[in-house]
Amino acid sequence: MALQVELIPTGEIIRVVHPHRPGKLALGSDGVRVTMESALTARDRVGVQDFVLLENFTSEAAFIENLRRRFRENLIYTYIGPVLVSVNPYRDLQIYSRQHMERYRGVSFYEVPPHLFAVADTVYRALRTERRDQAVMISGESGAGKTEATKRLLQFYAETCPAPERGGAVRDRLLQSNPVLEAFGNAKTLRNDNSSRFGKYMDVQFDFKGAPVGGHILSYLLEKSRVVHQNHGERNFHVFYQLLEGGEEETLRRLGLERNPQSYLYLVKGQCAKVSSINDKSDWKVVRKALSVIDFTEDEVEDLLSIVASVLHLGNIHFAADEESNAQVTTENQLKYLTRLLGVEGTMLREALTHRKIIAKGEELLSPLNLEQAAYARDALAKAVYSRTFSWLVRKINRSLASKDAESPSWRSTTVLGLLDIYGFEVFQHNSFEQFCINYCNEKLQQLFIELTLKSEQEEYEAEGIAWEPVQYFNNKIICDLVEEKFKGIISILDEECLRPGEATDLTFLEKLEDTVKHHPHFLTHKLADQKTRKSLGRGEFRLLHYAGEVTYSVTGFLDKNNDLLFRNLKETMCSSMNPIMSQCFDRNELSDKKRPETVATQFKMSLLQLVEILKSKEPAYIRCIKPNDAKQPGRFDEVLIRHQVKYLGLMENLRVRRAGFAYRRKYEAFLQRYKSLCPETWPTWAGRPQDGVAVLVRHLGYKPEEYKMGRTKIFIRFPKTLFATEDSLEV
Ligand code: ATP
Ligand code: MG
Repeated sequence: MALQVELIPTGEIIRVVHPHRPGKLALGSDGVRVTMESALTARDRVGVQDFVLLENFTSEAAFIENLRRRFRENLIYTYIGPVLVSVNPYRDLQIYSRQHMERYRGVSFYEVPPHLFAVADTVYRALRTERRDQAVMISGESGAGKTEATKRLLQFYAETCPAPERGGAVRDRLLQSNPVLEAFGNAKTLRNDNSSRFGKYMDVQFDFKGAPVGGHILSYLLEKSRVVHQNHGERNFHVFYQLLEGGEEETLRRLGLERNPQSYLYLVKGQCAKVSSINDKSDWKVVRKALSVIDFTEDEVEDLLSIVASVLHLGNIHFAADEESNAQVTTENQLKYLTRLLGVEGTMLREALTHRKIIAKGEELLSPLNLEQAAYARDALAKAVYSRTFSWLVRKINRSLASKDAESPSWRSTTVLGLLDIYGFEVFQHNSFEQFCINYCNEKLQQLFIELTLKSEQEEYEAEGIAWEPVQYFNNKIICDLVEEKFKGIISILDEECLRPGEATDLTFLEKLEDTVKHHPHFLTHKLADQKTRKSLGRGEFRLLHYAGEVTYSVTGFLDKNNDLLFRNLKETMCSSMNPIMSQCFDRNELSDKKRPETVATQFKMSLLQLVEILKSKEPAYIRCIKPNDAKQPGRFDEVLIRHQVKYLGLMENLRVRRAGFAYRRKYEAFLQRYKSLCPETWPTWAGRPQDGVAVLVRHLGYKPEEYKMGRTKIFIRFPKTLFATEDSLEV
């Protein structure tokens, strides 16, 4: 006699229907171990798989307790309605195999335990059946598992989607773009051994048969300061170490490089070239192979490596002061290699590294740099060379991912699935321009999230013919405006100060801020604060009250980082480069262009506005990643740390919005199928409309009118306890 096994939606429990001994079994995280257990005790042990089923849904403690129980059982995924919350297990749980992919294909979201693949499949099916573009937004702080999730999603699509009729290589390219971008854009930090130091949005295009046919990547704000400086315990971008460790003898000789990372000043600042979790040598092999998959010719690889090497050589350029305190290059060997690798003229480069060209009244003046200025110019060049090469790399990858069908009529019938892997809220001891930009980005995404969540809730209620009950929520538009508004916003004021070179300083910027946004409820400085709060604010700081909490920013470096200037003669030198990649990165038009280039903050603001538009045009799905501890260890659940993240991810607010109306909603068919055994009139079969069957069923169960509503296709249940009571009465 075969057993009939069924999953129920309130915990990872299977019901075993057996003619002689009906009962329930709890499914272990390994999917094998099963123990006799009632639904009630299982719920106690593994918590609920959807936070909306928490009785006390406004309690953060209850929320965290639920996370903890599940984490203890290696159940790292939990829903808030359609939103997936994921806790990084820091161990291989063996839950991403081909079998797991199959298990989640084509099944209903709520009838299986929460999983990334359930989201992947739901999104894909919506794309296929409704033909609407989709966007999966993955957020969380550094080390929370965003990039891993993105990779698993891509893998899911690459393995489970049908192959395109032609251009099957695109699947490989989509996957192989990752190691390359990670080599150039990721680094070991204190928080994550493989931390993405840029934001990434990737579109995957599908043809009308659901096969991936192309892709496109947008990158955001690479942390280029890392090229020249790393904090203790951190590294530069992976590619440098990979090349030194894994590059062939012959290659290194050509590039004039030594194997030992200690030989390079740009690699020694963090004092941790070797990381036990990273194998640079084998990673390099992967990257080399990936480069050829994404259409790099051998020449292009050489040109690219020449640039990587030249950054290292630049870092080793030393200066000494002559009698007049002017900087002179003392490292001839480095200069020689740079000249060759970058394909520039030696004298021009030498001059550009030690002089500044100023054009005044149509005349060119060369003014010598002192030691400090020369070191600044050198570092600025290294950062510009590296970050522009990174942008070039993204463009190059995009060319290789571009759908080969772009010109054909079928192009129009493609649908797009976007994956957003972008930095979460950052709050450090010391917060600067970078954190300001990143947190602004999070405000924008939060605004979009609230807007879209409320909208989709409202739409569902409307579609189901159920009266919408307005939800109170905090609208963070006020903070977005504070940052981005024309003339009065922080970015505008910063840009204005950047237009006054020589006069403006970080502190005059702060003063101007104080004058302009004095009485804003979300803005504070030492001067504006009352006696009590003043103590917690330094004189060179401003504080923003973000939706997720307060962050204090130090203005030091704001002007410089926002200006991001590269001296004119360095630009000229690079424009003359014979290295084909460099000549694409440095365009001569830049030199003749009278208009000031956009500042970093403004560029970022514009790219964010564009991103929001892209995301708005798609059906959203959300994955919220949480890091369980700072030690990168499995099994450790650090409550304080997690509470912060629950706050910064806005999860309680999310749950509140979702629970404002009804905790649970289910299609009539599914509801009836599950509970029909509880009512003699619906058991074993109901011949009429499922909706009528459900009506009979819930009347029989004694549901009170205020406990539920009948929509067009779904039943809506207001409180979890109603559902649990029904669920528990299934027990024998
Ligand atoms: P950052 O913002 O710094 O880029 P991130 O959110 O992208 O951080 P990941 O690089 O995805 O973080 O994850 C950090 C590490 O945690 C991974 O290298 C991996 O070791 C581990 N990890 C993350 N997710 C999982 C998972 N689902 N299963 C097992 N290990 C994981
Ligand atoms: Mg990452």
